[in-house]
Amino acid sequence: MFDEMGDLQDLYQQVILDHGRNPRNFRIQETADGRADGYNPLCGDQVTVFCKLEDGKLKDVSFKGKGCAICTASASMMTQTVKDKSTDEAESMFEKFHDLLTKDDTDMDAATDLGKLGVFAGVRKYPIRVKCATLPWHTLKAALSDGETVSTE
Ligand code: ZN
Repeated sequence: MFDEMGDLQDLYQQVILDHGRNPRNFRIQETADGRADGYNPLCGDQVTVFCKLEDGKLKDVSFKGKGCAICTASASMMTQTVKDKSTDEAESMFEKFHDLLTKDDTDMDAATDLGKLGVFAGVRKYPIRVKCATLPWHTLKAALSDGETVSTE
């Protein structure tokens, strides 16, 4: 899809590499209201997501773990994106993000809608990497519900 858009793809890669190297909100929350562990055996990604809720909103979201650049960047950008969103908003964002990565017919409108997360549209070309990008979101979802360990398998 971005074959004719080399420059844009470079930009996207830079954003992902930046977050992969310097993840934001990369810390443990001892007093988190919810936490869950996620594991992607295909790649070896492991993340723990912590969330603090206030008035039904995600007051603070952070993560710890070790993953590849895509997983780490996705987790980093997720923590920034869902901050101050309601849990419902966060879930609908995950749905859009998932569509962006998995559906062929998802157009750029969806990506625009997702703001910075649109950079992950390029990951669609590498199906094996899709789970790296979605793992943090699956884990956040688990942290908001039962807190069980999730695996992409
Ligand atoms: Zn990975």
